[in-house]
Amino acid sequence: MEYKKNDICQVTIEDIGADGEGIGKIDGYTLFIKDAVLGDVVSAKIMKAKKQYAFARLEKVLQPSPFRIEPKCAFHKSCGGCQIQAMSYDKQLEFKQNKVRNNLIRIGGFDPDFVDSIMEAPVGMEPPFYYRNKAQFPFGTDKEGNPITGFYAGRTHSIIANSDCALGVKENQEILECILEYMKEYGVPAYNEETGKGLIRHVLIRKGFATGELMVCFVINGKSLPHCEAILNRLQNIPGMTSISLSINQEKTNVIMGKEIRLLYGKETITDTIGGITFQISPLSFYQVNPVQTERIYERALQYANLTGQEKVWDLYCGIGTISLFLAKKVGQVFGVEIVPEAIEDAKENARLNGIENVEFFVGKAEEVLPEKYEKEGVYADVIVVDPPRKGCDEKCLSTMVSMAPKRIVYVSCDSATLSRDLKYLVENGYTLEKAGIFDNFANSVHVESVVLITRKDK
Ligand code: SAH
Repeated sequence: MEYKKNDICQVTIEDIGADGEGIGKIDGYTLFIKDAVLGDVVSAKIMKAKKQYAFARLEKVLQPSPFRIEPKCAFHKSCGGCQIQAMSYDKQLEFKQNKVRNNLIRIGGFDPDFVDSIMEAPVGMEPPFYYRNKAQFPFGTDKEGNPITGFYAGRTHSIIANSDCALGVKENQEILECILEYMKEYGVPAYNEETGKGLIRHVLIRKGFATGELMVCFVINGKSLPHCEAILNRLQNIPGMTSISLSINQEKTNVIMGKEIRLLYGKETITDTIGGITFQISPLSFYQVNPVQTERIYERALQYANLTGQEKVWDLYCGIGTISLFLAKKVGQVFGVEIVPEAIEDAKENARLNGIENVEFFVGKAEEVLPEKYEKEGVYADVIVVDPPRKGCDEKCLSTMVSMAPKRIVYVSCDSATLSRDLKYLVENGYTLEKAGIFDNFANSVHVESVVLITRKDK
């Protein structure tokens, strides 16, 4: 049967797509339905029909899924952030576990029974809210001319007012309300993306979970804040306030932060700790947004690395050196490689701050630095840890790893499709998949982190 636009159909939701949409099938014809939850029976209206599949709009939930729950946030449908908030948390974890499992089978080519024998229980969060230590709130103006802040409605740039995102820290709301009040009182205009006029573009808020330190950075289309003392006085009174700064961004761009930061109050950085290592974080630093789950991932990576204390470890895609520094105390020597020079600056500074001397960091692409060091200088590795971006590892990086032949490779991944592709390569080249586990760093979203151990057969 073929469907066309405006047809209404009834379908049971059997799967969830990459963006959290419900997926149902009628006689092999696939329907993608936003806001439908796994297990729902729904009626939906076809909006865009293709030969094999269609995008449809949820009309009515005819029989709610047993996994459907009342979402905590009233805006979860309009906001792109929490695609699966209407699904119970246990079911979310099961869904994520299955997603990784299926990719290991489909893309990695592993046998289903084998995958089941090596996959560990998922590690989730309790509660699955308030876990993000960083948020960037856009500012705008409502129809009445009042300043507002909140989030962009999914895939648009129109702001829905909400200062109380359920994924962020509780302090966000108090800080944002303070800023809105100040803007009203002193007539400080929000930036308007269309005209390029107005002042306040975004406000970045960060919190050190371990220290309670708070950072606020105003991103402005100008060089200073009018009546600056007034807003500083109010924000300073919020317990934990450690750093208030400006980021100047006068370009017409979607890039949020400007390059120049000016300190208005307190210190330039806040501190946080993960696994006993202290990190200094500036408004521009990269830092893991869910430090609680991150520490659990690093613990698992450490367990998989099975170190004796003498090893040479390479940490590829090392960011600000979080994994490198975490492992440094347990090994002989760590080498970190990262493409972003500023991140390596931070990594070195963090090493110094923690008195760690057995780490060395290199700026560059993993697929260039590693071959160069190996082919020209003959470096070796007992263990290699990789934590690449979504696109996974470059093949040159993988082939060099194979040539270096470390006993163990620990692969941390935020995309199980590219992870599975890379594992296939490594397994075809002498490695064995030993263990795989998933970690829920982004509860209520469709994202999932995995940590995998592969070992070399002949070692
Ligand atoms: N391991 C770090 C960061 C992982 S995020 C942590 O746990 O915090 C992935 C990192 O890979 C980013 O910092 C990104 O800048 C870096 N990156 C992206 N492509 C790269 C490449 N080709 N070579 C080296 N690093 C790269």
